[in-house]
Amino acid sequence: MAAPSMGGVSLPRGNGQTVRLPRGASLTDLAERINAQPAALVTALFHLGEMVTATQSVNDETLQLLGAEIGWVIQVVSPEDEDRELLETFDLTFGDEEGDEEDWDIRPPVVTVMGHVDHGKTKLLDALRHANVAGKEAGGITQHIGAYQIVTELEGNERPVTFIDTPGHESFTAMRARGAKVTDIVVLVVAADDGVMPQTVEALNHAQAAEVPIVVAVNKIDKEGANPAKIRQQLTEYGLVAEEYGGDTMFVDVSATTRQGLDDLLTAILLTADASLDLRANIGQDPQGVVIEGKLDKGRGPVATVLVQRGTLRQGDSIVAGDAYGRVRSLLDEHGNKLKEALPARPVQVVGLTSVPRAGDTFLVVEEDRIARQIADRRQARIRNAQNASMRKRISLEDLDAALKETRQLNLIIKGDNSGTVEALEEALMKIEVSDDISLRVIHRGVGGITKSDIDLALADDVIVLGFNVRAEGQATELAAREGVDVRYYTVIYQAIEEIESALKGMLKPEYEEVQLGTAEVREVFRVPRIGNVAGSLVRSGTIVRNSKARLIRDGAVVADNLTVDSLRRFKDDATEVREGYECGIGLGSFNDIKIDDVIETFELREKPRA
Ligand code: GDP
Repeated sequence: MAAPSMGGVSLPRGNGQTVRLPRGASLTDLAERINAQPAALVTALFHLGEMVTATQSVNDETLQLLGAEIGWVIQVVSPEDEDRELLETFDLTFGDEEGDEEDWDIRPPVVTVMGHVDHGKTKLLDALRHANVAGKEAGGITQHIGAYQIVTELEGNERPVTFIDTPGHESFTAMRARGAKVTDIVVLVVAADDGVMPQTVEALNHAQAAEVPIVVAVNKIDKEGANPAKIRQQLTEYGLVAEEYGGDTMFVDVSATTRQGLDDLLTAILLTADASLDLRANIGQDPQGVVIEGKLDKGRGPVATVLVQRGTLRQGDSIVAGDAYGRVRSLLDEHGNKLKEALPARPVQVVGLTSVPRAGDTFLVVEEDRIARQIADRRQARIRNAQNASMRKRISLEDLDAALKETRQLNLIIKGDNSGTVEALEEALMKIEVSDDISLRVIHRGVGGITKSDIDLALADDVIVLGFNVRAEGQATELAAREGVDVRYYTVIYQAIEEIESALKGMLKPEYEEVQLGTAEVREVFRVPRIGNVAGSLVRSGTIVRNSKARLIRDGAVVADNLTVDSLRRFKDDATEVREGYECGIGLGSFNDIKIDDVIETFELREKPRA
């Protein structure tokens, strides 16, 4: 088959064969697979109207478009598929219960509390934390680790219930977006003195989209004006019909303040779980689960709260969580007690990881540390590629001119006290849009203080290091100060957003506006040797300033633009400026076409302040 010629460079033509590429692959990656010259692909893509360099990450559509053009079917492998394949190479799978279903054990439900702001989610979670009715450690101080488990009694049996301790649907959807299905039941909190509000509906939609059963907690019934019946009424419109009205949703009246109704709420959760879910897990298999929260602890290093979903997690296990790995040095529950093992639906803090995983990352226990490390390394590389891809803008041929001009980029390094805030901050910052030719790029992010290696990394142009609730450590402070690295500390996200936004605006190419300085009328034209024609003029308005810009106007028309007041004299003396009403000699450089009655207009370009 003849090789098609595109822009003079020949390309090996595919015959509809398939090539698989990871998301965020570059033309060099593609070239390698199809045995082509990267430069030929760059040219081919250029002819299709896109300009990228050979090593730049290219988005899915562009890859496929290019593939189609040269006869290849390009299959872009999603990160999820890729991860599945990565695990398969180690003979691992995530998410599947192993073994015979009959051998599986009942596991506790995992509950997420959602609802409108100020309807009492946080307070309810707090109240429940202390409602550990049958719990052995009743009275123990519960620390915030992102999730906790309490034990209640139902029909004579002790039944644990696990609560995710970050209320709100953001964390729920963020986890789900990562493919981590954590929540079995949603408790929808609605304040009885307020009613169904926008975020109530939003939470409800999220729960229904995820096909997660809902228990409604009608909160604040202690308040005057509380109208629990109204809430039931309102929610029927959204398909949530209370049992007492013939529906199948359990509504429980509670008060997070007086703690009334909490037992009933727990009962309702368990009954709903028993009625509509068959929650079971194999406690005998290799443990797997999801990271709920990660942080860097001063004394203990990276600490991740994980929710075991299947299997039994034990001290000493080799674990890989997202792109972090390590060996479980200790397991701690929400009371700070050391555990030997954690069963399904148990939230535990894992100490011993080499870095801090992100909320929503999955974890697996593998046979050997070596495997954990290899998986983590491969994931790290993939995350880097994907980030490069998502950050790159498509450039169309029309934008070619603009693209060839320097586009500017502000690079950021984000460090924070826990993975949730770092992600939230990054997400918020990436939404800032100032101008098309300026982009923001997070070159590094992580949990923990700002280290010397962060500053080393920042020692390139335009890198701002953001510390969110963290500080620079030891040598890093010195190094940053010495090298003039811009390190900024924040404790509130919006402040960070504001400052970065204005930093970006500061990078915009300045816009100039013309400000008129003065006009002069030509009365006489002198011929000066070696200088040329000089306009003997009378300043009519403003001031004529030496070196300012000028244009020449004759009979109302601009004869010459882009001139400069090259010389300015008052009688025999050089002057820097001459004011209205005075006479002066103006030389316009090599421009000599000056006539009597011409008007010289002078102006300067001033930088326009930005809105
Ligand atoms: P969130 O935004 O949903 O997490 O709401 P919070 O838990 O922060 O509660 C919002 C406000 O309502 C706080 O001032 C709480 O003290 C108050 N609150 C929460 N639950 C109750 C309740 O059952 N009764 C009363 N009277 N106030 C409550």
